[in-house]
Amino acid sequence: MKVIVIGAGLGGLALANGLGRAGIDVAVYERAQSPLIRRQGYRLHLSDVGIDALTSVMAPQRRAAFWATAHKPAPERERQGEPG
Ligand SMILES: Cc1cc2nc3c(=O)[nH]c(=O)nc-3n(C[C@H](O)[C@H](O)[C@H](O)COP(=O)(O)OP(=O)(O)OC[C@H]3O[C@@H](n4cnc5c(N)ncnc54)[C@H](O)[C@@H]3O)c2cc1C
Repeated sequence: MKVIVIGAGLGGLALANGLGRAGIDVAVYERAQSPLIRRQGYRLHLSDVGIDALTSVMAPQRRAAFWATAHKPAPERERQGEPG
């Protein structure tokens, strides 16, 4: 089975990661020719639920990159079990 995902936004890329990790052949199509084509924010604030959902569909290497590039919360707000 091959799944085609239309749109490389957060939803589409999370879905594609999850499908890929489940062994499903997936292709993502995005109409924007560049990530710079529309005005976007410089970062996303993710709740604990959002972080859990996103990291659950990431391959280990991408999860490590996610944590390596994420802003670290103040110590008193740090999540239990967060690496690094
Ligand atoms: C200024 C701003 C700040 C935000 N800050 C936060 C935040 O801090 N935390 C947070 O959780 N959320 C935030 N959000 C909301 C968050 O960005 C959205 O909830 C999220 O991007 C939605 O993801 P999505 O994949 O559904 O849609 P999108 O990210 O909009 O992705 C949809 C993609 O599909 C593509 N597409 C659409 N139609 C087609 C087509 N026919 N063919 C091919 N490609 C197509 C579009 O070009 C787009 O790239 C913010 C939003 C804005 C505007």
